[in-house]
Amino acid sequence: MSKRVTWVCTLLLVTLLSAAPAFASTSLRVMASFSVMEELVKRVAGDMVSVSVIVPAGEDVHRWELTPPNVLALEETHVVFYNGLGLEPWIRHVEAMSDDQLTLVEVAKKADYSPLMISTGQYKGEPDPHMWMDPDGAAAYIDVIAGTLAEHLPEQADAFYARAEEARKALATLNQEVKERLEGIPQTNRRLLTSEAGLGYFARAFTFEAFGVWGVNHETLGSAQAMAKMSEYLAENRPRPSALFFESTIPSIHMDALAREASLPLAGPLYVDSLSGADGPAANYSSMLRHNAEVLHTALGGATAE
Ligand SMILES: [Zn+2]
Repeated sequence: MSKRVTWVCTLLLVTLLSAAPAFASTSLRVMASFSVMEELVKRVAGDMVSVSVIVPAGEDVHRWELTPPNVLALEETHVVFYNGLGLEPWIRHVEAMSDDQLTLVEVAKKADYSPLMISTGQYKGEPDPHMWMDPDGAAAYIDVIAGTLAEHLPEQADAFYARAEEARKALATLNQEVKERLEGIPQTNRRLLTSEAGLGYFARAFTFEAFGVWGVNHETLGSAQAMAKMSEYLAENRPRPSALFFESTIPSIHMDALAREASLPLAGPLYVDSLSGADGPAANYSSMLRHNAEVLHTALGGATAE
């Protein structure tokens, strides 16, 4: 072999070797079931992993049906991070597609975080899936995500864990910030009355009581019986709630009707099951919690207590 050919071969080898980690690091394709999970995954994955979402921001994660583009994307995917605990009933169709290449990770089920039980409706007694509404719950998700990505790309494990640590710190700061923003709301006003009972973990984290017209997960929206129960609560309970709230992914008709009947203000939207679009007030997880805190602060008398 001539010197020139040897040199070219060496150069080629060096190029291939130096390119190898970059190729490996971008070869993992991940999908998140909904927009909140997508953002948490992106915080840990950095630029090393391709991350996309199944249910786009603004859509109802409980009632989604897989689209043809979803199915095509899933065929090219290695890991699906989904919340689980019944949040995404449609995940069974993804499970049916899973094979040696596709791993499904039920993040809420694996998270080291104490579950609350659903207190009303069709799924009464089962764990409430909306754990991300408490920043500590979101931090527990971060750990599951980092551990999973590290398993799939061991050579990048240190980077995943370092970013997970950053994310945990940011979530702890956010937790404190939201707590302070909600501080002025008097205890008697700390009631979160929404369509779906999806704010249980938020309520536990920030000392509120939370009720929904209906329970959580996939069930009939606002049956006559559920509406009558909330209507009775509003008529009989004293002191009266300061406001009712509607959520971004659920039509506000039920809360609107109840608010008119009880002559109470209706405030919102609260973002629970989805982030907003990029131009909206809840474009990422932090802004979602900050926005919700602002809505509550204004509607529940936080401003007057300052
Ligand atoms: Zn929900």
